[in-house]
Amino acid sequence: MTIRDIHLLGSPALRARAKEIPAVDGPIQQLVDDLFETMDAAKGIGIAANQIGVTDRVAVIAVEEDRFAMVNPVIVSVSGKAKAEEGCLSIPEVYGEVSRPERVVLEAQDREGKPYRRELEGLVARAVQHEIDHLDGILFLDHLSMLKRQRALARFKKEHRGQGVIRKVTPPEDGHRSL
Ligand SMILES: [Zn+2]
Repeated sequence: MTIRDIHLLGSPALRARAKEIPAVDGPIQQLVDDLFETMDAAKGIGIAANQIGVTDRVAVIAVEEDRFAMVNPVIVSVSGKAKAEEGCLSIPEVYGEVSRPERVVLEAQDREGKPYRRELEGLVARAVQHEIDHLDGILFLDHLSMLKRQRALARFKKEHRGQGVIRKVTPPEDGHRSL
């Protein structure tokens, strides 16, 4: 397992639509393991392959004790609506309130390629939606109003001027856990 560099806002990988995985093989399992390790090192609660520059439909989640991999994840139904603050490992120090469905039904494959279906709600449902957005090249900023998005972008640019689009992973000091 390897801690990978995280791509930041501005990296083309974050705007790419990740490719379906035809079969879960050794390299995909390695990718899952690297995502878990990178997420844990960065103190995230989820991370998608795009965020380490790999455009494959793979992401992992860790919300409290609930840790799972998602290969080719699809949300098959949603209900309710909830608003909560989100952050992103690829957009450090920037947070915004995002409105999303409160409950989702997720279908995906696990690290062994076995299909599963889960009904999720609350933070884990939010994390799953945030990561699947990543696989479609969508960022949480895209869900904000124009004004809030512009403010968030200005803050990111100010904090990260001249730092490039690759972040070596070191745990954040403020204790925030991001997606
Ligand atoms: Zn994110």
